[in-house]
Amino acid sequence: MPRKTIKDNLRKNTNLCIFCCRKIPSDSPCCETCSFMLKIQPHEQKLSNGCPCISALRYEGQYRTAILKYKSGGQFKIIHKSYSLVLNRTISKLYDNIEFDYYTGVPTYKKFFHFDQVTPLAKETARLRNSEFKPLLCQSKKKKTQHLLDSAGRESNVKNIFKCLDENDVKGKTILLFDDVVTTGSTLTECSNELLRNGAAKVYCVTVNW
Ligand SMILES: [Zn+2]
Repeated sequence: MPRKTIKDNLRKNTNLCIFCCRKIPSDSPCCETCSFMLKIQPHEQKLSNGCPCISALRYEGQYRTAILKYKSGGQFKIIHKSYSLVLNRTISKLYDNIEFDYYTGVPTYKKFFHFDQVTPLAKETARLRNSEFKPLLCQSKKKKTQHLLDSAGRESNVKNIFKCLDENDVKGKTILLFDDVVTTGSTLTECSNELLRNGAAKVYCVTVNW
């Protein structure tokens, strides 16, 4: 087999453990050694605009360390497959009876180099669930890092910075919106408001951590 094909197969059939980044079979989000650490307890909340938001894992301890590693990008590129397995289980538990027209992600600002960790998550989860991923939003200006701000600062930091790409893709649609972490929910609230303003029938959110 040519070297490139072997490499491709390895990429396709392999996940990395979300905790220790060891290579593991493609049907599991973490290795056997770390499996005691993975307890998926899906959590449901409502954003301030009433949109439902579900999350898979707490944003603390081993889960926080793991997602920060993922967000730092680069060498952990294929770890999104493991997180998609976690999200798939969470969606199956809490949103299983909902028919989504599109899966989409909270956008990142394109003019600056920024590892986009959300699109691969949303795309891979859509693939696992035979659903369609579509970019529906863009970010029109750079924002400050949300976690350095207090609640009011976070809200004004993201105010009106997300724009709908094409209202024809959104009108009347039921949309599943992805992000990596929800804390105050201000980013997801702004994004879902923009989709609703452009005629979305309903917006549901899903994140890895909460
Ligand atoms: Zn591990």
